[in-house]
Amino acid sequence: MESVAAMCRSRIRYRTGTQPFLKWKIHHRCNFSCAYCRALREPMVPSLRDAERAVQRIVEVLPGTWKVVLTGGELTSTFRLTSQIVGDLGEAGYPMRLISNFSASARAYARLIRISNGRLREFFLTRHAQYLSAREVVKRAAELRAEAGDSVAVTVRQVILPEDSQLKEAVALRTALSAEGVSFYPLRYVSFRGKQGQGHTYERVSSELLSAVFSEFVFAPRRKGTYCPAGFEYAYLNPRGELYSCMPYKYRKEGYLGSIWDEELPALKSEPTLCAVEYCSCVPGR
Ligand code: SF4
Ligand code: SF4
Repeated sequence: MESVAAMCRSRIRYRTGTQPFLKWKIHHRCNFSCAYCRALREPMVPSLRDAERAVQRIVEVLPGTWKVVLTGGELTSTFRLTSQIVGDLGEAGYPMRLISNFSASARAYARLIRISNGRLREFFLTRHAQYLSAREVVKRAAELRAEAGDSVAVTVRQVILPEDSQLKEAVALRTALSAEGVSFYPLRYVSFRGKQGQGHTYERVSSELLSAVFSEFVFAPRRKGTYCPAGFEYAYLNPRGELYSCMPYKYRKEGYLGSIWDEELPALKSEPTLCAVEYCSCVPGR
């Protein structure tokens, strides 16, 4: 059993080490059609009016110190809607991160920064190797860095398959992006069979190559039994307006905090709680 001291350390780390944030999945529409994507099954997109009301409700639920992480679908595929949302959230003072599949031009991303009144400060751009070559990624990253300026953090993410060629390419990509002032964040592949964490699929890859790519961590950390700010200083809002403690809980049909469309607003928890999920990498918001 975890000692009281360890529990306190865990609780303190979460309370002081992470910025509170809302992950808002605005819609599921996308301009790519990855074979493995579940988002495409529900291509619903809110109207401009509903999006405006959603931001108003978010303002009522969340303190302005929370960061709002905007994701889809692909939000640049609905540029007018996304512009309105970043404009409204920026006006309300929320710092923002945009998650995108890197299909938009640097100019389009920079336009969103301007519309947000400088509150859009982070880009997480997920490279899909079947659509974007490594060379194109570096070119676009350099263009975005030039357009966005140094105060905006840019991170390129990619799921790295357990293949030597992808792992070697990832090492080179990290170096090339770093020269442009852009971070590279490799994500481990998790099979649809759901073998979370223990990395059976990477077993045939050399450990040298593996550690060269995954310098931060190889697999999602074990979370079960540790304190987590989900529902307290972190929440997940889905396209239906339903607020959950976190995405993994939502998929377990747990952690429901309420709907932003209900008269009674969703209530956040008053403190971190113990996680019941075995492995999770979604805190602090990767
Ligand atoms: S880019 Fe993302 S949202 Fe779009 S189809 Fe691929 S996995 Fe789905
Ligand atoms: S699954 Fe657990 S660790 Fe992950 S965000 Fe949810 S409560 Fe926190």
